[in-house]
Amino acid sequence: MKKIIVAIDGYSSCGKSTMAKALAQYAGYTYVDTGAMYRAVALYALENGLDEQQTVAALPEIHISFIHAADGQHVCLNGRDVETKIRTLEVGNKASQISPVKAIRQFLVAQQQAMGEAKGIVMDGRDIGTVVFPQAELKLFLTASPEERANRRFKELQEKGENPVYEEVLRDVNDRDYRDTHRAESPLRQAQDAVVVDNTDMTKDEQIAHIRRIFDDYINR
Ligand code: C5P
Repeated sequence: MKKIIVAIDGYSSCGKSTMAKALAQYAGYTYVDTGAMYRAVALYALENGLDEQQTVAALPEIHISFIHAADGQHVCLNGRDVETKIRTLEVGNKASQISPVKAIRQFLVAQQQAMGEAKGIVMDGRDIGTVVFPQAELKLFLTASPEERANRRFKELQEKGENPVYEEVLRDVNDRDYRDTHRAESPLRQAQDAVVVDNTDMTKDEQIAHIRRIFDDYINR
């Protein structure tokens, strides 16, 4: 089968990772969660009490990799599996704070581009179709209403045993959207040639079927 690059971008908590994972599995492609890479850098900064500039200075000591675990892909920070640790609101907020820093983006983008050299990849993030792989054959831009995304995030946090407050989760979603779309460096925006998928009123299975169809249409055309 033809091997292409699929770039999936969109707002936080709109199901990008779930869709990207499902599509990668369907196509037999490698899945790369770039948000996990920003989160791993953020975790390093939090654990070592580093501000943005100190984090930039520490980049040569930050090694990010992915391993295949029984329940899917896990991100590792300097060889340590940190998949669970990076999925908290605190780490998400720190990731959103450090992600506008140009040197941090360049550090991660170079690694992401290297991962796509062999194609056969589904990568999700905020700047994949615009900066990391502007030449990607298929670009999807996922979106859903802030309220629906806050709802999904709220349930996810509850399932993890956290005790979220809906209003705080919604505020967090809106704040993150604002920061992601207003930063000077690689702001989140829809690539001109991206296919937009608004999944506010779609179930997970409907979304997966829809995205598979878009992929099949591209591959078979
Ligand atoms: O997607 P996720 O919520 O895990 O990403 C965490 C944060 O990392 C985002 O809020 C965003 O600021 C940043 N990010 C980014 N570029 C990417 C992926 C994530 O700036 N390609």
